[in-house]
Amino acid sequence: MVYDRLFSTQHWLRRALQHLSHTALVSSLLRGHCLLCGAATAWREDFCPACEQSLPFAGAGCRRCAAPLTGAVSGAQPCGECQKHPPAFDRTLAAFAYAPPLDRLIQGLKYHRQLHLARTLGRCLADALAAATPGLPPPPERVDVIMPVPLHTGRLRRRGYNQSLELARPLAKQFGLPLDYRSLRRTRATPPQAALPVKQRKHNVRGAFAVKGEGLAGARVALLDDVMTSGHTVNAAAACLRRAGAKSIEVWVVARA
Ligand SMILES: [Zn+2]
Ligand SMILES: [Zn+2]
Repeated sequence: MVYDRLFSTQHWLRRALQHLSHTALVSSLLRGHCLLCGAATAWREDFCPACEQSLPFAGAGCRRCAAPLTGAVSGAQPCGECQKHPPAFDRTLAAFAYAPPLDRLIQGLKYHRQLHLARTLGRCLADALAAATPGLPPPPERVDVIMPVPLHTGRLRRRGYNQSLELARPLAKQFGLPLDYRSLRRTRATPPQAALPVKQRKHNVRGAFAVKGEGLAGARVALLDDVMTSGHTVNAAAACLRRAGAKSIEVWVVARA
């Protein structure tokens, strides 16, 4: 009698587990959740269709610095600022404008240790790079190495990670390009650009970078950062790469402010 009851409990339990494995468990494994609103999404989808539509995909921008172009300005010429002060980099490609709701994800990655967002945002940038460059060969044919904009060691220690390096990992993987996060270094601890008035930002990062080693002669570099605002940080880094012999420099950013 006791044996019967035990057997029937085991049997029931096994049936229940089998049932679960065919329904809730499997579908929960095959589903994700939208990073913005939490709604269930299809497997491997990071956003629900409504949130995906609400993302601020980058529009037409200056081909040199990706600043948004307004009105009658044509995309064939660099923007006024780039004509007046040509930057040290050749081209900038951005996946998004720095605007809601995407800014939340970038802040989550940068300030709240949500490192899983690097995979999503890095993949979005890779998709944008693969799609949005008419007239250009694909990234692996025009770039030799990806270099994330480095943090100063003090800030790296406090934050525990460099968000630009985390963003660069999925891109390097997708394009089969080497990732070099050692050659370019930040030699000076500078206040965060966002904390400074625009006029002081250029001075703040001037001479803040150095290149270690001699391996950059003739290299075609993609310099990667999360957000580009004034462009002074990537410009200072690009100027340093240029002095170290880099042949061409593209700037890749997730978002352009
Ligand atoms: Zn959503
Ligand atoms: Zn420009």
